[in-house]
Amino acid sequence: MQRAENINKCDVLVVGGGPAGSAISTKLAQMGRDVVMLEKEQHPRFHIGESLLPMNLPIFEELGVLEQVEEIGILKYGAEFNDENYKNQATYYFENALDGNFPFAFEVKREELDTILFQNAAKNGANTFEKTRVTSVHFNDDHSSLVECVDEVGDTVKWHSRFLIDASGRSTFLARKFNIKKRSKEHNSAAIFGHFDNVVRREGLDEGNISLAWFEHGWFWMIPFKDGGMSVGAVCWPHYLNSRKTDVEQFMWDTIALCPPVANRMKNAKLTTPVTATGNFTYAASHMAGNGYLMIGDAFAFLDPVFSSGVLLAMAGGLKGAKVVNTILDYPEKAEQLLAEHDKEIRMALKTFSWFIYRITQPAMRYLFMVRAERRVKREKGVTSLLAGDLFRDLPIGRHLLIFKFYYYVLFVLGLRKNLRAMRKRKFDLRGEPTEAKEANFNLSFFLGNGV
Ligand SMILES: Cc1cc2nc3c(=O)[nH]c(=O)nc-3n(C[C@H](O)[C@H](O)[C@H](O)COP(=O)(O)OP(=O)(O)OC[C@H]3O[C@@H](n4cnc5c(N)ncnc54)[C@H](O)[C@@H]3O)c2cc1C
Repeated sequence: MQRAENINKCDVLVVGGGPAGSAISTKLAQMGRDVVMLEKEQHPRFHIGESLLPMNLPIFEELGVLEQVEEIGILKYGAEFNDENYKNQATYYFENALDGNFPFAFEVKREELDTILFQNAAKNGANTFEKTRVTSVHFNDDHSSLVECVDEVGDTVKWHSRFLIDASGRSTFLARKFNIKKRSKEHNSAAIFGHFDNVVRREGLDEGNISLAWFEHGWFWMIPFKDGGMSVGAVCWPHYLNSRKTDVEQFMWDTIALCPPVANRMKNAKLTTPVTATGNFTYAASHMAGNGYLMIGDAFAFLDPVFSSGVLLAMAGGLKGAKVVNTILDYPEKAEQLLAEHDKEIRMALKTFSWFIYRITQPAMRYLFMVRAERRVKREKGVTSLLAGDLFRDLPIGRHLLIFKFYYYVLFVLGLRKNLRAMRKRKFDLRGEPTEAKEANFNLSFFLGNGV
């Protein structure tokens, strides 16, 4: 980092110090680049997104933080799905994935995980600044950028950066600047959540598993923590959330009461944090990179969190992005090709998750997910690999998922009336003001949006 005419200089400036920003900053610093990461909050800060996937582990190892994450996390061997009638339950164990060598992941408190990752970037040589909000960027003809930020004492600081990374999460700093953020009309939902004590936990090795439960207005997650607490949240259709007539906390308890598989485990539960809400709408920017910049993690795209894919996609995108940017800094003429290849790889992973997420409300899909373990043998490996987040390696997962998709379409046709009815209901549930607009206009703590 050099100072000249009050403009600081660096090779790469990273906006945002969440998992994506910390991953790319650490990696680029390890490669010898002069990296600056600017974070508007101060760690530890609350963040939602506490259930990780097995394929996060090799990433933690590569960054040198696996042991630290082990210390804060509870082992998660699988993902449990429950239907709303409390009749069926299906657990997918990661050891049954195509590659059984990654049989567990972790559930973590994000304030702890994100602090580890952020501090690790500094340990590896990145220049990290907290309480520093990036406010504007101007791109120069040579594709470098001039970034302005406001530091912790309120002073404006300028940075000249050869390459800019947007890892600003759902603030979508660049996508908003370019006005290229596209919200998914088919998946407009929002979430309410809190942390609780005294929630009944699963026994033995299942204690750390995530539980997911569908109900009339969406789905619930239950994510156990190492300290005995539990994160419980509901992802709901906007129409349902807009119907709220009580305060947020009461609304949370009323919503829990609508889902027996969750309510039965929470009879003696005590809320330990305020109930928070966030617009959960799915979106993507129309492009992820251009001359002198790359968007990674939620700054580029956000998917419904039903498969706990966000942190993995953010960090994998960070590590892959680091290699791309490192090469571009030495060989700028390769930028277009490298960024296009990167774009393709990230979109493919998003698309693979999306196919399942968009159909999760269909009876045909629910049936396939809830089938008893002994009857899903042929389809289990591919889906379990998907649930493990194993989308970036050279495994024949696509072929296995095709078998699942084939069964899905057969069941869809066999139960055509039921499935079409579910499609119509989904359309009906999506009615109402888009959650994003609601967030902007709703001056209540109910739709907080940022910082979660
Ligand atoms: C309801 C819900 C449940 C979820 N559950 C899961 C889950 O179980 N598992 C999972 O893996 N994922 C989950 N996710 C998704 C997960 O939270 C995100 O995908 C993940 O945090 C993305 O990481 P990121 O680094 O891209 O963004 P973030 O973690 O959001 O980090 C972005 C950072 O940028 C900072 N920032 C923003 N603007 C600026 C600025 N202008 N200047 C400086 N700094 C800035 C922010 O303060 C923040 O620290 C969930 C999301 C939601 C909404």
